[in-house]
Amino acid sequence: MSEINKNYLNLAQNYLFPTITKKVGEFKADNPDEEIISLGIGDVTRPLPKACISALHKAVDEMGDASSFRGYGPEQGYDFLINDIIKNDYEASGIKILPEEIFVSDGAKCDVGNVQEIFAKSCRVAISDPVYPVYLDTNIMAGREISKILCKEENNFNPAVPDFKADIIYLCSPNNPTGTVMTREDLKNWVNYARINKSVIIFDSAYKEYVRDSSLPRSIYEIEGSKEVAIEVRSFSKTAGFTGLRCAYMVVPLELKGTACAKDAISFNTLWRRRHTTKFNGVSYIVQRAAQAVFSSEGKQEIKELINYYMQNAKIITEGLQAAGFTVFGGVNAPYIWLKLPAGIKSFDFFDLLLRQARVVGTPGSGFGDGGEGYFRLTAFGSMENTLKAMERIRGLKL
Ligand code: PLP
Repeated sequence: MSEINKNYLNLAQNYLFPTITKKVGEFKADNPDEEIISLGIGDVTRPLPKACISALHKAVDEMGDASSFRGYGPEQGYDFLINDIIKNDYEASGIKILPEEIFVSDGAKCDVGNVQEIFAKSCRVAISDPVYPVYLDTNIMAGREISKILCKEENNFNPAVPDFKADIIYLCSPNNPTGTVMTREDLKNWVNYARINKSVIIFDSAYKEYVRDSSLPRSIYEIEGSKEVAIEVRSFSKTAGFTGLRCAYMVVPLELKGTACAKDAISFNTLWRRRHTTKFNGVSYIVQRAAQAVFSSEGKQEIKELINYYMQNAKIITEGLQAAGFTVFGGVNAPYIWLKLPAGIKSFDFFDLLLRQARVVGTPGSGFGDGGEGYFRLTAFGSMENTLKAMERIRGLKL
């Protein structure tokens, strides 16, 4: 028998969402006539923007025509998409990003999960708690030393710069699961820390489109000097409803360097390019055309409406929970609402109670780490009708 990667034995037994799906499945089997509303998994429910659908149709037709058919494309993405990303997501905010710094992929989950491969196993990783589980699990799989940074309510759940040296730091803003957003000052502190400690920040801004307060940063590259210390990951999933279509991108700046045996500085961009071109054959042409349509004037308008729709849900949830007497966080510049449970109630117990009493599914905070115990996540990605209904049911909860 071949020996397994024993690091896998150190993972929590199941990824969070399959556990929840199983619990809901069991409840449904016992209560087949009950209507269950899910405000649990962070998946979108609105259809794709029409601009993306038209682009998809057009691209499909091109693929059926001998004169415009495309086979393998460039692994790092077509120029038409990369140029539009740069123009709209960066240049428009005064940030200079070069085409060779962008790597288009089939999802931010893969990017934040795979990026650790270009770092040494000996790198110490700092991860906030609670956290999007992928950062943690992929580093456990790799067998790295992981230090958790407990995110506290008094700090608006933002991770404080630690008093130890971390080589890799994962930051997520707007944050999943807490729905809170790091300020420019918070990010400056982190960039400063990374520059002093020669660390690399993996900045996940998959929810950047939900930041409506213009004083809050959407990109880490808004902070001076950050290109020397940060990789940024973004996704079309929550911006434009691409969770089923799959398209994202990662920025690996040319300035970002690491060392081998404490010798010469080596470019992480070169390493990631090597990794990407070796293990990935590019996002499909039709999907990249759909992603490009997000930046058309029609696409931009539709996306604005899409985000407004979800953020209206976030408002309904926030106000509904507050009216029911709960303390809530997030939900203003993020599609996640982080609810504080009354003292003594464990988050998985609240999950069961909410399912049994209100037939509403949410996500237990402890599923995102020990720091999430005593909290519960609801998402704004449901339909407005269901969100309103869920809030009505929650108002009637007996704790
Ligand atoms: N990053 C964060 C913080 C997320 O919450 C998610 C999805 O829930 C992802 C990345 C994954 O995005 P994608 O659909 O592009 O893989």
